[in-house]
Amino acid sequence: MEHIVLRHRNIPGLDKLDVYLANGGFETFKRVVTSMKPEEVIKIVMASGLKGRGGAGFPTGLKWSFLTKNRPAYYVVCNSDESEPGTFKDREIMEKNPFQLLEGIMITAFAARANTAYNYMRGEFWPVAKVLDTKIAELRARGFLGKNLFGTDYSLDVHLHLGAGAYICGEESALLESIEGKMGQPRLKPPFPADKGLYGMPTVINNTETLTNVPLIVARGAEWYQSIGVKNSAGTKVMCLSGHVNKPGNYELPFGVTLRQVIYDHGGGVPSGKKVKAVMMSGASSVVLSVTDEILDMSLDYDSVAAKGAALGSASVIVMDESVDLSWVILKTTRFFKHESCGKCTPCREGNYWMLHILERLHSGEGTKADVDLLNSVASQVQGKCLCPLGEFAVTPVLSSLKAFRADFDARAKDAAKPKPAPAAKPTPKKEPMAGND
Ligand code: SF4
Repeated sequence: MEHIVLRHRNIPGLDKLDVYLANGGFETFKRVVTSMKPEEVIKIVMASGLKGRGGAGFPTGLKWSFLTKNRPAYYVVCNSDESEPGTFKDREIMEKNPFQLLEGIMITAFAARANTAYNYMRGEFWPVAKVLDTKIAELRARGFLGKNLFGTDYSLDVHLHLGAGAYICGEESALLESIEGKMGQPRLKPPFPADKGLYGMPTVINNTETLTNVPLIVARGAEWYQSIGVKNSAGTKVMCLSGHVNKPGNYELPFGVTLRQVIYDHGGGVPSGKKVKAVMMSGASSVVLSVTDEILDMSLDYDSVAAKGAALGSASVIVMDESVDLSWVILKTTRFFKHESCGKCTPCREGNYWMLHILERLHSGEGTKADVDLLNSVASQVQGKCLCPLGEFAVTPVLSSLKAFRADFDARAKDAAKPKPAPAAKPTPKKEPMAGND
């Protein structure tokens, strides 16, 4: 299929500016700056049905429309933090298709009437940032960034900003704090960034994959984009496939593909032909789904996954085969979220601490079945009481796996009924030589 976001897989060398230009690169940006109004660009993106690919799935054009003519955005920020375990699509985009991402950021900045844009990247991405910086410098040198672009009165510059590797900086308000040089902790909302964002000014924030869609949507039109995918989920999605699959990796596929097709047709199936026990659809923070034929035949689009009680989110599909003990998985996710909790609000800070203690007790052989109940109770009390989504992210895998795979947790308890040993075979009486027989 023709890729939209991972277009470098169809066009070799697309990370070179000359190759990108030879394939229509920056023609759309030049056209919007020289002949279109910002609201016309917003209208196309709204009509395309593009939704945020970072996890929330919020309609992109609608987000942009919150800014009005009288109150334009001062800043556009691309969220390339990508710190969700199991997610690795934005890195491929930045490394292999950087100019399409930059063109998307630039078109978005024009639509939002912003003159400054940032690409925020997690600290561990510094080698990627080093290369991306040279790409931005090339754009400045070739007149695609700078003052009075193409002879108009529109000026734009793009900057990179590296975080320090905190998961929480993927949350948009913590990300803004981080750019401002403060500790990366979420802000209370409202106000939302469209109203008071970076440095207190109206700001548009979108994910890397979302913005990489924009140049082709504006070039080819909303109808073309709507023709791909399914109702309410237009276009393609990059699925990050990992775990027990023969061919893990990024797969850009139209919405509506089934989970079975992703795992077996694209991912090459499960090693040693084992059965799939569980799947997480959106990285470490997602609902743990018990896999049945019905789940394998689920259409991967926003509505269908939600109908099964999960969320498609960033489509970071983690596959677990029948050998996996879900209590071990949850020990890992809880250790991660406890470490990444920023500590600003009590339910998340204390809840994660206690959940980890309980899980460690179970795994050391000292826990009891009452601890499994206690884990459920602590997670339930954290749910819905935190300042930012991380609190929810931490308890979602705990509660969903306790519901679907309670036996895996109970089996860790020291007072659990252990499987009865098979009855010992009755010893066959030895034939004693009869006295006097010899
Ligand atoms: Fe910080 Fe956790 Fe509260 Fe979010 S939920 S503000 S990460 S303590």
